[in-house]
Amino acid sequence: MILSVRRLAACCALGTALAGCGGPGLPHTTGAESPTAPPAASPAAPAATADAQPPPPTLAPGPEGQAPVFEHGPRGGGKTVALTFDTDMTADQGPRAASGERFDNPELIGTLRRLKVPSTVFMTGRWAEEYPDQARSIGADPLFEVANHSYSHHAYTARCYGLPTLAPQRMRADVDRAFAAFRAAGVARTVPYFRFPGGCYDRTALRAIAGSGVTAVQWDVVGGDAFATDPDAVAREVLRGVRPGSVVVLHCTRSAAPATERALRTVVPELRERGYRFVRVSELIRASDQGGRGQGAG
Ligand SMILES: [Zn+2]
Repeated sequence: MILSVRRLAACCALGTALAGCGGPGLPHTTGAESPTAPPAASPAAPAATADAQPPPPTLAPGPEGQAPVFEHGPRGGGKTVALTFDTDMTADQGPRAASGERFDNPELIGTLRRLKVPSTVFMTGRWAEEYPDQARSIGADPLFEVANHSYSHHAYTARCYGLPTLAPQRMRADVDRAFAAFRAAGVARTVPYFRFPGGCYDRTALRAIAGSGVTAVQWDVVGGDAFATDPDAVAREVLRGVRPGSVVVLHCTRSAAPATERALRTVVPELRERGYRFVRVSELIRASDQGGRGQGAG
């Protein structure tokens, strides 16, 4: 299945198959019915931190105990924007990494540091196993927060851009296995946020992962960097979509998102010129607890 690359959000390279992730322009829920009411923010959070900092904010559970879903921060809470970077790596891509394919992007992390851009990295457990030094370095840097993008980057619904599908009874374990991989890599601190591979979820998936205590984090701006080779096109896509409180999905993997780092060199100064302040997802969720709307149509 070849989808328009510009409309893909998250890259999910499987062999030569182009398996992308849906953004607002694609049906990222397969047979899903999102919770109808925005959950109220709650200070409760699982013990995912390893230091004395206050626990990161999470949202209250959705209907029927489902994991809550966050899509963007308050629209009226000032010009804040959260750049998020998914480090995709499927469980079976080890041989490709061994043969030289680079699923990491240290240049991108370096640019975020140089430009001092607070960011949230949605890391797969498999990626942390492949690049433990980088995972540990990102986790130790207060500029970043490390969130969960599953262990295996397999789909949590059927028909998710060609990704292999996890059975519901294996979903919770997949989330937990990613957190375990982060700990094994030495990641000092994580936040209890989870991004579904491909952005694909439904009520079954939200129920399946609820016990992990995570807040599912989607997005309202698709960077379109999956398999993009033109950084200017990626930059235009981001700049066109950002509104106050936006969550932007981008990728931190060179093989499947080779233009992202260069796009940032345009996006970051331009958004600052427009008066935007970069924040981590946790700050947007916290702001939602102060009168904002934590979930919207995007
Ligand atoms: Zn992904």
